[in-house]
Amino acid sequence: MSYNIPKTQKAAVVESPDAPIHVRDDYPVKQPEELAPGECLVKMHCTGVCHTDLHARKGDWPVPPKLPLIGGHEGVGEIVAIGAHTANSPVKIGDRVGIKWLADSCLECEQCRKGLEQSCLKAKLSGYTVDGTFSQYVVSYVSHVTPIPENIESTEAASILCAGVTVYRALKYSRTTIGDWVVIPGAGGGLGHLAIQYANAMGLRVVAIDTGAEKKALCLQLGAEKWIDFKETKDLVKDIKEATGGAGPHAAVVTAASSPAYEQAIDYLREGGTLMVVGLPGTATLNASIFFTVFKSINILGSYVGNRQDAREALDVASRGKVKCHYAIKDLGALSEVYEGMEAGKVAGRIVLSMK
Ligand code: NAD
Ligand code: ZN
Repeated sequence: MSYNIPKTQKAAVVESPDAPIHVRDDYPVKQPEELAPGECLVKMHCTGVCHTDLHARKGDWPVPPKLPLIGGHEGVGEIVAIGAHTANSPVKIGDRVGIKWLADSCLECEQCRKGLEQSCLKAKLSGYTVDGTFSQYVVSYVSHVTPIPENIESTEAASILCAGVTVYRALKYSRTTIGDWVVIPGAGGGLGHLAIQYANAMGLRVVAIDTGAEKKALCLQLGAEKWIDFKETKDLVKDIKEATGGAGPHAAVVTAASSPAYEQAIDYLREGGTLMVVGLPGTATLNASIFFTVFKSINILGSYVGNRQDAREALDVASRGKVKCHYAIKDLGALSEVYEGMEAGKVAGRIVLSMK
């Protein structure tokens, strides 16, 4: 297979947190002969926009991103070149692959050997420490790109690569079992609406928490049994307990990017319950009652995206139709307005950018 690889491309570039996003059409494309061993060049079909990209654009996390930055880490495309002298590549030119948050890791350290490669100290992060998927051609790494199963469209697979795998893993480690209740603050957003579906696929019962009629309809349509509007409730703990038959949920998977979504989790969780810490408000701290965390035997677990195996498993579930991303397609030029909508809480599900 041979590809005509252009010298320049369209890319959305962030020069600084205050500057407008600059969609350029003259951004250089790394040429095949310039790729290092282990690198591959992927021609993007599409890419999802995650709230993490908005954090990166604003620079509101404790560790700031590289600048200038091309964001994006939910990309699907086709490998058009692989660096010379790449040994034992698990993928080949022409393969359809996904680019996720974890672009690369050393594969040799303790974390990598234990399958916790997302916490590798040498990890490269798409759209944060290395340029991401908001460009037509992306340099990625053969050992970490994710093969996309045949029976799923690229636009449907895109957000499984971050939102999907993240909530899939959080649910997997949430110490729940079939028939248990899980509460999902942020349920109408990108991560949350997929979490409802993965939870259902695992036999869990879902209380969705978010706000507004559109997100309510989406959550109920996707299989949430109960809905609570966090802007309307007068007593969140009471409402959650009531929704779960009085005792509270067995787990909470918090997928909201705001600290209030965490505040009462210890109060509403059932004894022995688990708080899965997923949503990432930049500088917030967890204020849990030590007394009730002990007294109720509560587990508090941080959950960070997923490893290569989690990505394959999350995609497999989606490719069998058990989980479907609810998305609208836009062009790369709409990125600023997508961020504005996300900031205002107006995006139900996901926005996927077409890169063709
Ligand atoms: P999103 O904007 O699509 O969804 C967030 C949702 O939370 C929105 O629907 C919003 O209305 C809702 N919300 C806000 N305040 C709330 C509250 N008090 N109670 C309940 N719901 C509330 O964002 P997203 O792309 O789904 O990402 C969510 C967060 O998860 C971001 O902080 C992102 O950086 C983080 N994230 C973490 C990981 C990880 O590995 N842990 C991976 C991906 C994303
Ligand atoms: Zn993400």
